[in-house]
Amino acid sequence: MWLLRGGSYALVELEEKVRAAGGWVGRLSFHLDDLNIRVNAQPPREPYGTGLGPDRRGHAITARPPPRPVPALCGVMANPLLIGDWCLPFAADMTRTCGECARIVTSTPV
Ligand SMILES: [Zn+2]
Repeated sequence: MWLLRGGSYALVELEEKVRAAGGWVGRLSFHLDDLNIRVNAQPPREPYGTGLGPDRRGHAITARPPPRPVPALCGVMANPLLIGDWCLPFAADMTRTCGECARIVTSTPV
């Protein structure tokens, strides 16, 4: 991971390439507020993707959503955060995560 733009963005090398505009990419830049940085992190256990709701919060949606608004676990319509056909995994403990979606995901057995 490399910091960009005065340390507010990170260039992240992905474990596998994803299809994006212009072809397959192995690195993407993210705002640091949208990353959950951990040492020796395990893959997300929650089988959900992230959708951006009208409240600008991250909501839990199906992991392989179509490229249009879909209902989140809490009931709001959310736009999938897609990079090519890959959806950003939902993380229940992010600053801008929907509290209701986080509650539902963390109380549901895997
Ligand atoms: Zn929600």
